[in-house]
Amino acid sequence: MSSILTGGCLCGAVRYRIHGQPFHVTHCHCISCRKASGAAFLTWFTVRLIELEWLSEKPVYYHSSAAVQRGFCPHCGATLSYQHESDPDDIDITAATLDAPEQLAPESHIWWQEHLGWGEPAEQAALPVHARNHDGV
Ligand SMILES: [Zn+2]
Ligand SMILES: [Zn+2]
Repeated sequence: MSSILTGGCLCGAVRYRIHGQPFHVTHCHCISCRKASGAAFLTWFTVRLIELEWLSEKPVYYHSSAAVQRGFCPHCGATLSYQHESDPDDIDITAATLDAPEQLAPESHIWWQEHLGWGEPAEQAALPVHARNHDGV
């Protein structure tokens, strides 16, 4: 993919631009993502931190655990980002906040051991399922 991806929150106060190649496009079913978003699962993609440019306002952060900071819009509350201190060079961005989310194709489900039974999208059934993280962490 060579095009530059752009996206933002519901109210438009926080906008971003991605200059690199997204990887780890995945549906996360963990309890923290569900609670942070109010959705049955959250779809993320990962980019190098230096490839992410916040335009105008930046998100504010909530530490959902000592090592994790989740970014959200201070005005509309939209969930935007996830950073784990063990991975300081990478950042996860919510794929559904992209202006054109269908440019990315999710590759897997992670944290399936915490998934909601009624949150299973039938059309995604063929993707690999990981009980915890994609790398077994
Ligand atoms: Zn907003
Ligand atoms: Zn999660």
